[in-house]
This record gives sequence, structure tokens and C-alpha cells, in this order.
Amino acid sequence: MTTSTLSGKTAIVTGGASGIGAACSETLAGAGAAVLITDIDDRLGKETVERIAKAGGKAHYLHHDVRDEGTWSGVIAEAEKRFGRLDIMVANAGIGIMAPIATMTLADWQRQQAINLDGVFLSIKHAIPALKKVGGGSIVLMSSVAGLRGAPGLAAYSATKGGVRLLAKSVALEHAADNIRCNSVHPGIIATPIWEKIPTGAEGNRRNAPIDPRERAAVAVPLVRVGEAQDIANGVLFLCTDAASYITGQELVIDGGLTAGGKASR
Ligand code: NAD
Repeated sequence: MTTSTLSGKTAIVTGGASGIGAACSETLAGAGAAVLITDIDDRLGKETVERIAKAGGKAHYLHHDVRDEGTWSGVIAEAEKRFGRLDIMVANAGIGIMAPIATMTLADWQRQQAINLDGVFLSIKHAIPALKKVGGGSIVLMSSVAGLRGAPGLAAYSATKGGVRLLAKSVALEHAADNIRCNSVHPGIIATPIWEKIPTGAEGNRRNAPIDPRERAAVAVPLVRVGEAQDIANGVLFLCTDAASYITGQELVIDGGLTAGGKASR
């Protein structure tokens, strides 16, 4: 893909300050899009904007919690005011709370749903009128391999990611006539800060040490390496370009083969 594949387009990336979202922001900007990065981590958000600016790209950071419906219209307005239009929504912000389902608190369950599912719903709902205005666009929802199969200790997370998967398909069908495509991306084990945020000794994290994604990937992933945020950003970029203009309502699994076979795939 050339560096100007997305020139003249504007993208919003939620949770764009860190990990996969930061890689998506940098990659879309590298392909010529102007990117509005939203997140609750202001320090990392501004650092990502600086890296994009240094590389010659166009980006702006806005503090925004994806759960806050009252401020969503302001986010869309900011993208339109600053960059003139909205073409791409990458609904990426997410957290993972580990807890066995039998002992998980309702508060943890609801927090998990609010960020990973309500936040994605609001991203889509508020982007659609802006995408319609410019004759269509691409919505990419960040799901997970946990949205394709069960994940012990991560039942609530898995429920959100399965929901995101089907949300993509329904949105794709509802808005195909508007030329709005909507797809889900399903990362496997990716080396990002999300793993460090799972508290040591958390219920469900049966180890008394942080979970190391590289260690996990070494025993579970057929391609025998952990995924990097860039591996996911490459797939997101593809779904946002005209090269994917006939792809909607689909799942792009980027997992080094993790889900290709059964338990014995490695
Ligand atoms: P990360 O923790 O590095 O990034 C997540 C970002 O979301 C952070 O910048 C965080 O501040 C932001 N965020 C959290 N709550 C928010 C809120 N309420 N409003 C706005 N922003 C908020 O993690 P990551 O691995 O880059 O995760 C990105 C997405 O990828 C998530 O949806 C995650 O579930 C998914 N995913 C990650 C992996 C993996 O192995 N890393 C695997 C599958 C799916």
C-alpha cells in the first residue's frame, strides 16, 4: 500500500494512545489519513501524536471516555472541524478483567461490558451520520480470538468480544446501502501493555506473577512468536482502504494460526 492510500481521509481511533490503537493511529496516518486519537491516557495520547507529527503525519489527541454518550457528538464534531470530514472509525478501546464467572462481581462485569461493548456501540452510533455525509466509510471493531471461542478466566471479556463480532455483522447489513462497511478484527496474543494491567494474583490469573504474552505465545501459537501491535494495524489499514471495498460483515483473524486448529495445533 502506498503512503498516500488514505490521503484526504479522516479516521478516529478510540483507545489510540497505547498498544494496538497507537499502532493503528500511526499506520493510518502513515498512509495519509488525518487521525483523531481519543483515549483516557493523556500522556500516551500526546506522545503518539508527537511520533506521528515527527514522521510527517497529521494527528490530534482528545481526552474522551468511550462510555460517555454525552460527549460523543463533540468527538465527531472535533474530527469534522479539525480535518473536514470523517471516513473511518476504529473502535479499539478495551480492557480485560480476569475473574472466574462464579465469583466475578456484578460491578466488574458491568465495567467490562461498559467499556468493551457500550463503548463500541456508541462509537458506531455517533460515527454513522458523519460517514453518511461523505458517502460512506469503513468501521473496524476490535474484537479478539476470545470473541470466536471461550476463554477461561475471561468469560466477561469473551462475552463482550463475541458481542462485538456480531455487532459488526448487523451494522454491515444495516448500512451496506449507505456504502458503510463494518468488519471485526480478532487479534490473538499480542505484546501490548494490556497484559501488564491484569493485576498479579487477580482471580482468574492463577499465577502470582504478571502474565507474559511472549511466554504464552511460545507454547500456543503455531507461528511460534507473539503478535506485535503492527501485525494488527496492518490488517486494520487493509480494511480501511479501497482494496477492501467488497469486504463487509467479516472477521479478520490475526493470530499466528492460534485458532486454525484444535488444542493440539502446537
Ligand atoms: P492497551 O491497554 O495497550 O490499549 C488499550 C487502550 O484503551 C489504552 O490506551 C487505554 O487507556 C484505552 N482505554 C481503556 N479504557 C478506555 C475508556 N473507557 N475510554 C477510552 N479509552 C480507554 O491494550 P491493547 O492490547 O492495545 O488493546 C486494544 C484492543 O485490542 C482492546 O479492545 C483489546 O481487548 C484488544 N485485544 C488485545 C489483545 C492483546 O493480546 N493485546 C488480544 C485481543 C484483543
